[in-house]
Formats: sequence, C-alpha cells, structure tokens
Amino acid sequence: MIYSFRNFRNVAYFAFGRGTFDRLDEILAPRRKGRDSCVVFLVDQVFRAGSLRERIPLRENDRLIWVDVSEEPTTRMVDHYRDEILGYGDTLPDAVVGIGGGSVMDYAKAVALMLTNPGSSADYQGLDLIRNPGVFKVCVPTLSGTGAEVSMTAVLAGPSKKLGIKCDYTMPDQVVLDPELTAGAPRDKRFYTGMDCYIHAVECLTGTWRNAYSDAFAEKSLALCREVFLDPGDASPEADEKLMIASYLGGMSVTYSQVGVCHALSYGLSFVLHTRHGLANCIAFNHLEDVYPEGVRDFHAMVGKQGIDLPVGVTRDLTDEQLDRMVDTAFRLDHMWDHAFGKGWRDKVSPEWIRELFLRM
Ligand code: NAD
Ligand code: ZN
Repeated sequence: MIYSFRNFRNVAYFAFGRGTFDRLDEILAPRRKGRDSCVVFLVDQVFRAGSLRERIPLRENDRLIWVDVSEEPTTRMVDHYRDEILGYGDTLPDAVVGIGGGSVMDYAKAVALMLTNPGSSADYQGLDLIRNPGVFKVCVPTLSGTGAEVSMTAVLAGPSKKLGIKCDYTMPDQVVLDPELTAGAPRDKRFYTGMDCYIHAVECLTGTWRNAYSDAFAEKSLALCREVFLDPGDASPEADEKLMIASYLGGMSVTYSQVGVCHALSYGLSFVLHTRHGLANCIAFNHLEDVYPEGVRDFHAMVGKQGIDLPVGVTRDLTDEQLDRMVDTAFRLDHMWDHAFGKGWRDKVSPEWIRELFLRM
C-alpha cells in the first residue's frame, strides 16, 4: 500500500435517522444571521408534486429553486442559479441547501462556492482552483449511492470537459441523512445509483492508492451493498438505511483512495452520450470482468436478482469523432488510471485499448 501524505477536510455536521428531515429548520437555525436571514433551497423538481414540498422549512425571506436534473449538472446552469441568487439582493444567503440526488447536491455545492468566487464555474473545474470559501452548504440526499453528500467535489459538465470542482471548500458543511426520503425512488434509478456506490467500493479496494483508512470504509460499504442488492436483495426500510450509509461510507473511502477504470470509462460515456453517471457506470462495469473479476461477477448476480435490463450496444452508432472524444475524455483521467494500475499505467493503458473497451459496450 502506498501512503501518500494528504490532509483532508470532512463534513462538519451530520444528522442521521428516519424523520430527520423534519428537524431541518432546527438544524439551520444556528446558521441564520439576523431577522432578514435568507436560505436558498435547491430542490429536485421531482418533488414538486407530493408531500415533501410542504415539509421544506421555508422562512419568510427564504427562496426555493426547483432544479431540473434531466441532464446532469452543467457549469452553465451553476452560473445561471448563482446569478439568480445574486439578483435577490445585496446580502448573500446564509446557507444553500440541496435536496435531491447527486445532481442536486452537486449543484448546491457548486452554487454555494460560486456565490463568493468570480467568473464562471467552468474556470474552476479541477483541483484546488477555488480561492474563497463559499456559503454554508447543506446536502440532503434523496437517492443513495453517489457519496456526493460527503465528497470534496462537485462534478460538472463544462464546455470542454466533465470534471469536478474539487477542493476542501466543496465539502458540505452539514449533511442530513433521512432514509425515508429515498423510499419513493424508482427501482431502476435506485439500482443504478446504488451500483455507483458498489463500484466506488470495488474500485477503492482494488487500486494502488488504497490504504487502511479507505479499505475500512469500502469494505463495510461493499458489504452493505451486497446485503441490499444480493442477499436478501429486498427494498425494505432497513435496506434504505443500509444503502444510505453505504453511500456515505463509499464517499469517505473514495476521498482517501480513488475510483478506477470503470469511472474513467463512465466519464467518457457521460460526456459524449449524456448518459447518467450511475447508468454509465453499470454499462461500463458490465464489461470489465478482466479488470475486476469478483466485483463484476457479483454485479451480474445483482443485475439478475434485481431484474434490471441493462442497455447494450450503446456505442454501436457512434461516429469516429464521438468515439475519439470518448476515448480522450477517459484517457485524460490520469489519477484514475494511476490508482488502478500504478505509476507505470501508461505502459498498460493505451487509447486503443480504451477504444476497444468502449466498442464492447
Ligand atoms: P440524480 O441526482 O441525477 O437523479 C437521478 C433521477 O432520480 C432523477 O430523475 C431524479 O429526479 C430522480 N430522483 C432522485 N431522488 C428521487 C426520489 N427520492 N424519488 C424519485 N425520484 C428521485 O442521480 P444520482 O445518481 O444520485 O446523481 C448523479 C450525479 O451525481 C451525476 O451528475 C454524477 O456526476 C454526480 N456524482 C457526484 C459525485 C460527487 O462526489 N460529487 C459522485 C458520484 C456522482
Ligand atoms: Zn461514481
């Protein structure tokens, strides 16, 4: 194991448990500065209909923005929400709360940062480019698996690349984990995002950057995913709790380890075909038995047990130019290849091989 020195920030506050969402007003109260306090809630518009809407603790000056996640987060929309919020008045909000899956949580994290950093969010895609801490960030997951609620990145598609705004300041300040919020998620979405978590664990455990810290989180995360999707593989309330914690632990593991081959390929798929992250991971992982034999074997069992129809032939009709862009996007993710194969990864990984993997999908 390679122990390279790194000094990480963690989530400052977190609350877990059924019904915790109804304590959100209480949780936010200490963050409010004065009587004119404003908190901005970014909420997945899937909740426009339904009872969650009434439970959002809006106070007088608070704002609610419904977020469309039909496409994964873009730098363009981050800038748009930032401008909208700055237009509310001269003072910044006391907090930005993201209620939704990984997409809305990443929007909340990125928008909170862009309220205090000039220019476009596209200028900050990369490592440690943000200069000023953003406003207080709260993440409330409604879908479990990405680990975005505990990660130091907000993944965005920009004009030239899909890459996170990654730095200490991106880490949420507060997380509210209420498994009840995930109960209504459609089965396929729950599975694809759940598999994001499973794949995080497999990749963290099988690369050169792994260490005792990341292993501990990944092992438990993997075990919980297996309990949820394999044995007994039901969707009971306990399963929602387990998956929510698996997601959290997966995020903790990735922080001190890294994702690998599947994620590099998945980024290529998403950038060119706009395939959602969880699904793109599943499409790629389905063909990676040479790289992750055990992980892929169990993955196939989970797909079968959960009755999921995975798309095939998704790269069949790509033009050469699209395929080149896909390969280029994946090949550029040095850190993932480095983790998967070690410092000499360029001897093992070539654009031709990546192309061949894409063509299998
Ligand atoms: P998502 O947020 O894109 O949501 C997927 C779908 O599920 C959407 O249609 C959404 O409306 C719906 N949905 C969410 N919660 C629901 C609920 N409770 N009931 C019904 N429908 C619900 O999906 P995701 O997989 O959670 O997030 C994917 C995004 O997260 C991608 O943009 C990916 O890049 C990002 N990501 C970020 C990190 C990170 O560390 N920041 C890690 C992995 C993935
Ligand atoms: Zn992922």
